[in-house]
This record gives sequence, structure tokens and C-alpha cells, in this order.
Amino acid sequence: MAEFKRFCIEFDSGSDEVLNFDVVIIGTGVAGLYTAVNLDKKLKVALVTKETMQVSNTNLAQGGIAAPLSHDDSPDIHYMDTIRAGSGLCDSHMVRILVDEAIENINILLKMNIPFDLDDEGEIVLGQEGAHSRRRIIHASGDATGRIVSEHLGHVVKSYENVTIFENTFLVDILTDEQNTAIGVLIRIKNRNVVIFAKNIVLASGGYGYLYKYTTNPEVTTGDGCAAAVRCGAKVVDMELVQFHPTVLYHEKNKSFLISEAVRGEGGLLFNSFGERFMVRYHPLAELAPRDIVSRSIYFELQRTGSENVFLDITHLDANFIRKRFPNIYQKCLELGIDITKQRIPVAPAQHYSMGGVLSDEFGRTTVENLFVCGEAAGTRVHGANRLASNSLLEGLVFGRRIAQYINSRSQKNVKHIAICHRSLSKKEFDLNVATEIEGLRSKMSEYAGIVRTKEGLEKLIDYIVSRLEILNTMRLSTQKEIEYYNMLMIGYILANAALMRKESRGSHYRKDFPYQDDVNWKKHLVYSNIYGWEEIF
Ligand SMILES: Cc1cc2nc3c(=O)[nH]c(=O)nc-3n(C[C@H](O)[C@H](O)[C@H](O)COP(=O)(O)OP(=O)(O)OC[C@H]3O[C@@H](n4cnc5c(N)ncnc54)[C@H](O)[C@@H]3O)c2cc1C
Repeated sequence: MAEFKRFCIEFDSGSDEVLNFDVVIIGTGVAGLYTAVNLDKKLKVALVTKETMQVSNTNLAQGGIAAPLSHDDSPDIHYMDTIRAGSGLCDSHMVRILVDEAIENINILLKMNIPFDLDDEGEIVLGQEGAHSRRRIIHASGDATGRIVSEHLGHVVKSYENVTIFENTFLVDILTDEQNTAIGVLIRIKNRNVVIFAKNIVLASGGYGYLYKYTTNPEVTTGDGCAAAVRCGAKVVDMELVQFHPTVLYHEKNKSFLISEAVRGEGGLLFNSFGERFMVRYHPLAELAPRDIVSRSIYFELQRTGSENVFLDITHLDANFIRKRFPNIYQKCLELGIDITKQRIPVAPAQHYSMGGVLSDEFGRTTVENLFVCGEAAGTRVHGANRLASNSLLEGLVFGRRIAQYINSRSQKNVKHIAICHRSLSKKEFDLNVATEIEGLRSKMSEYAGIVRTKEGLEKLIDYIVSRLEILNTMRLSTQKEIEYYNMLMIGYILANAALMRKESRGSHYRKDFPYQDDVNWKKHLVYSNIYGWEEIF
């Protein structure tokens, strides 16, 4: 077993700057912003984000938000689609909440005048995406839903007097008292340590996509929130369940730009380098099969044909429709010399979504008192082993609001200030090339913990990570990059061990040596914490 540091850096609440808030929210994606919007205006809120407010997965979301709004749809049908995609691992109670509260949250966004796309009669246009049995994807500016939603929510939050926004501010660690109750956070503002004491700490810090070499996620997704939660004793769950998106642009100048699921939803077809429409051989729903199946099918086709990419073709659709429905994708591809109304788009799978996260209940409560989590950082188990497209923005909305309502109803007696400090026993400074180290880890994660996994590969990966952790545990970390690297190693270690333990294939987790789903032994979640080690929940 690898050991993890309790605190990443040295600090002292006696000499470092100290601030007091009722609520600290880490992250300005949909989960963090929407939580802030729903908090009581009497509460003093700190909203902390690593870069500027707009840098997040949310900002890149294209397809939209799933909600059962059409006359032929219902929460029950949305529920069934979500459960089916999740390959037997969705938590039915949590999914029920997700789908039952979808429409009321969309109505709140509409009341906030978020400009979702409307048809000529003023009705919301509902898009189609893979594995949804109904048209239920609400979108804005065609394929710029995430940017529109986060800009709008960001604008609203900036107007609130009770919210103080800390941009370019880095969460390092979560502080706890002797009872292991969370009492605040240690943050870094321009290399300056600041301790914030708060009764409520909300992690909305997103996933861990940047652990992979090929990912649609931005650099901020180094799993800091999950790693800090593990260091303070919280449980994480489903960390091995990582979704790979089938259609990410594969161009020498860009291998991370997402070609939305909605492109296949609107009729896009996949061809291999021999010009064959291969998906019909893999699944009755062909291009509209669940993401894990399409990603794996592409992986096998690439191996079979010896190519680096396949092609997504929408040239048979009306060019005006394409430009209007996918303005962002059209423009981005055009900049790279691909006119998608006339040419096929080269695509390959890449990491896209982290299903695992900090174990949480229906009010976003974690296993550490006063610590809440929502959005992609959370382990709500609503996505099971394979997230249904466009359910994650919805998850951030539904559980963000629930957390806010829970906090609003709590007694806000201040946390007691305890003198808290950490002095490192190690005298050795960090002397590795951190950029090279990070790239080394990312390559190994993609190679051994990617779309297809094996015992041998995962063991190699674990040995590598343990060897790096052992070195880092003897060193003092100081820069943000060094802490991020440590966080990535921690998350990689937990992920790889869970993937090794799960001796079956399910949803996005595919083991070449155990290619079948094993409901007798593995219809359960793997949970890890520093306090209890590995546990299983059903
Ligand atoms: C290209 C792309 C397209 C997508 N399309 C869709 C879609 O159409 N529909 C859908 O439902 N989902 C989509 N998703 C998934 C969805 O966007 C995310 O799951 C969701 O936005 C996560 O929201 P979040 O608020 O939890 O996290 P994020 O939006 O990722 O926000 C995390 C925040 O935490 C901050 N943070 C992280 N670490 C620290 C730290 N140490 N200190 C301070 N701040 C920190 C980050 O800077 C960021 O502000 C897409 C994802 C991508 C990448």
C-alpha cells in the first residue's frame, strides 16, 4: 500500500493570513456556481477557483442538459435510459432524484433568462443524443451550452454582495479538527498561504481527466478536490470508472476538441479507414450505441485497420442545418482546414468524464462532517459504470441546489478556530522536472488504465506510481504544479488499484482478461479511504 501525506505543504494558522466565511465553494463550473446561486444571501460565501472563472469542463460542454420535457417523455423514461446506460451500477435512489428534479431546475434556469435555443413557435428545441430513447437535450447557441450557462451563472454570482470570488486561487488541503470534522481549507493565492475557516465546505472542483494524455478536459482537471478529500479522510468511490468519448478530433494541431455526441444524434455516421460503416457490426443501435461501446468499437477498428483515427461523416445533412446546429464545431474544424459540410471529420476516442469521486449522499454530504461535494467531483453513483450523455450538467444543477438548500437550513454556529499547522519532517526540496513527470504519468495512464485494461498493464502502472510516490513523500512540495502532480499520483494510484480489483468488464471499464460483466461478484462499488482502506458498497 502506498502512503499519502496528510498535508501537501507547510502552513500555520498562527502566522498565515486567516479569513472567515460561512461557506467555501471550490470551483466555478456549473456545480459551484449553481450552489452559490441557491445559497441564502445572508450567508457569507467564498467562491474559490484555480484559474479564471470560465476555465472549467462546464465551459466546454457542447451537447446540452438532459431533461424529460417533451410530451412523449417522462422522468420514468429518463430514469430507465440512465439506468440502462449505467450497466447495473447506478444508484436507483440517486437517479430517481436526478430525473425527478430535472424539470424544476431547468425552469429555474429559464426564469434566470438563460437563452436556450427555441424554435419558431418559441418552444425549447430538444436535441437527440446516443442512448436516450427520446429527444430531451436542451441546448444554447447550438453547441455552446456550457459556455452560455456558466457565463450567465457567473454573471449572476458576481452581482451578489454576499459572495467573494477568489480567482487564480488554489485549494491545497481541507482542514479538520480532532473529531475529523472539516473546519476550513488551506488555499494558495499567488504563492501566499491563506487559511479560510468555514462551517460548510463545498467541493465542486471537477474530475480527474487531465490524468490522461488524450482528454477533452482542460488542464485544471488534476483531481485536486478528490485528492484533498482523501487526505482529510473522506471516502471516494468508483474511481476506476472513467468514460472515454468516442469522437474527439484527431488532427495534428488538436487532439482534444470534442465532436459532440449530438453530431451522431443528428445522423452522423462513423467510417473506418477502409470506408466501412463499422458500427453496424458492433451494436443494433450502431452510431447511437452507448458511449463505452462506440469507444471500444473504434479502439478495435483502429487495431484491426492499423490506423490512428476513424471518420465521422455528416456531409449527407443539409449544410445550413449543420452550420446552425453546430456553429462551434463547424468553425473550429474550418480553422483547421476541415469543412464538415463537405468533408469527413477525423476522430479518435479520448478520456472525457470521471464517474468516480468523493462518496456523497442525496444532500451532497460526504463521509466527513461539514464537507459537501457536487458535480463531477462527486461520487453520487447516478452514472453507474457509464454516464448517459448530458446527464452531468444536470447532476451539477440538481445536487448543487440540494446542497445549498441543506446548508440554508442548518444552524450556522461558527466553527471553533483551532490553532492548526503542519511542519514537514522532510528537508529535501523537490528536485524533479515536474512537467516531464506529469507527462510521463499521463502517458502511462492512457496506456495502462485507458479504454482496454489488463492485469499486467495495471500492475506496471501501480509499480510506477508507487515508486514516484515514495520519492515525493521524502520531498517538500512547494509549487502548485508539484502539488497537482502529487494529487494526480494519488488519484492514479487509487484508480489503478480499483481497476485491478474489478475483475470483470462493465460499462466504461473493460478488462481484456475478464471481458464479461460479472453480476454475481461485481455488481458493487469499490470505496477507498485512508482511514478504512478498501470497502465495498452495493
Ligand atoms: C468538451 C466537453 C463537453 C461536454 N459536454 C457535455 C454536455 O453537453 N452535457 C453534459 O451534461 N456534460 C458535458 N460534459 C461534462 C460536463 O461538462 C462536466 O461533467 C460538468 O461541467 C462538470 O461540472 P463541475 O462544476 O462539476 O466541474 P468543472 O466544470 O470542471 O469545474 C471545476 C472547477 O473547479 C476548479 N478547480 C479544480 N481544482 C481546483 C483547485 N485545486 N483549487 C481551486 N479550484 C479548483 C476548476 O478551475 C473549475 O473552476 C462535457 C465535458 C467536456 C470536457
